[in-house]
Amino acid sequence: MLHSHEDLHLDLFKTYDLTHDDIHVGVICKDCGSRPMVKKRNGWLCPDCTSIDKNSWKLAVDDWFYIMNEGITAKTCQHFLQLDSRHQAKRLLAQLPLEIVGENIKTTYFRKE
Ligand SMILES: [Zn+2]
Repeated sequence: MLHSHEDLHLDLFKTYDLTHDDIHVGVICKDCGSRPMVKKRNGWLCPDCTSIDKNSWKLAVDDWFYIMNEGITAKTCQHFLQLDSRHQAKRLLAQLPLEIVGENIKTTYFRKE
């Protein structure tokens, strides 16, 4: 199962000389392009233009898989989406059709091929 992920690894970091620090964190507002949007009960709020969007975080997670080409843990997702807790990240990741590998703190979510 893990083997297929390795096979498909494009190694964008080597190709483009990227480091993990080059990845910008936070959900981008699709209306004004600023970040980060803040998770609220009814969606994601842009502090700049006050636009609210329910799905912009999914694009951010998509970007993660595209750029990083590796699995994401709830902890990483928490940081990446600028969430208050790991549990919040876990609940969001559970909404996506991802492949789940490992248990508890080591649980890693992979994009399904
Ligand atoms: Zn905005």
